[in-house]
Amino acid sequence: MAIETVGVVGAGTMGNGITQTAAVAGLNVVMIDVSDAALDKGVAALKGSLERLVSKEKLDAGARDAALARINTSTDYAKLAAVDIVIEAATENVDLKGRILKQIEAVARPDAIIATNTSSISITALAALLADPSRFVGMHFFNPVPLMPLVEIIRGLQTSDATASAVRALTERFDKSPIGVRNAPGFVVNRILVPMINEAFFVLAEGIASAEEIDAGMKLGANHPIGPLALADLVGLDVCLAVMDVFQKDFGDPKYRACPLLREMVSAGRLGRKTGRGVYDYGK
Ligand code: NAD
Repeated sequence: MAIETVGVVGAGTMGNGITQTAAVAGLNVVMIDVSDAALDKGVAALKGSLERLVSKEKLDAGARDAALARINTSTDYAKLAAVDIVIEAATENVDLKGRILKQIEAVARPDAIIATNTSSISITALAALLADPSRFVGMHFFNPVPLMPLVEIIRGLQTSDATASAVRALTERFDKSPIGVRNAPGFVVNRILVPMINEAFFVLAEGIASAEEIDAGMKLGANHPIGPLALADLVGLDVCLAVMDVFQKDFGDPKYRACPLLREMVSAGRLGRKTGRGVYDYGK
């Protein structure tokens, strides 16, 4: 099935980035959120992002205007009745996502694909909430969506081959690279990345090296563009801790034990850039 129209639920960090990416790729998009204020904020963010691409000469002004003309916004889920795929990118909460999926199912065409951008909730468990779980799939974009090339395509136990191949083709139309993933906690990237960040906290806590030296080590010795501790500050220490706790619970394996220093810093409210202080001090 060829996808020409996209619905995006959630106008936050990820939702507005997905909307922008789809519109730049030439698809018509309707972006849904709960309030006009949330939609206005999302549109302002994607306009700013498009502007930066124009000023860096990665996009011309005509393409920017054409992309903006392809975007509609609404607080009314009924607007999703016309789309070929709905990508859910609302707040990460299992009960909320369950309610949203029911709302989408009530209005979407029976042949429309329903995808979620969840980082941590089981695709198989969310699919089971739908009358037709075969049309459900995970599309895990990375932040910032317009710049990050990867999309993890996550198949729940029930996802059909047709659904998986349609979202793979859509990902390529977005000029992004898909990797196919079987449903499992953390999928592929976070399963590897977050325990590495956690290990960096153990190395720091044991006094093996300073934060700056640990980050320099991984940048210069492993060719990472950013050190693991600076990355933790960017992602949010609370997010890293929550992911480790999910891994330990879901896998039942002590190798996923969160570093006590990470937990201690979260308790202190040192969550990273968003609070002005994490491993590093951002001076506010
Ligand atoms: P965010 O808080 O920036 O945005 C969430 C948006 O969802 C808000 O605008 C909120 O108003 C909206 N929303 C809440 N309830 C809604 C409803 N009932 N209907 C429609 N919209 C509703 O969150 P985010 O960072 O964009 O994350 C969204 C999803 O993407 C989450 O599932 C998250 O796990 C996933 N994700 C986030 C990142 C990241 O780095 N931020 C990366 C990959 C995946």
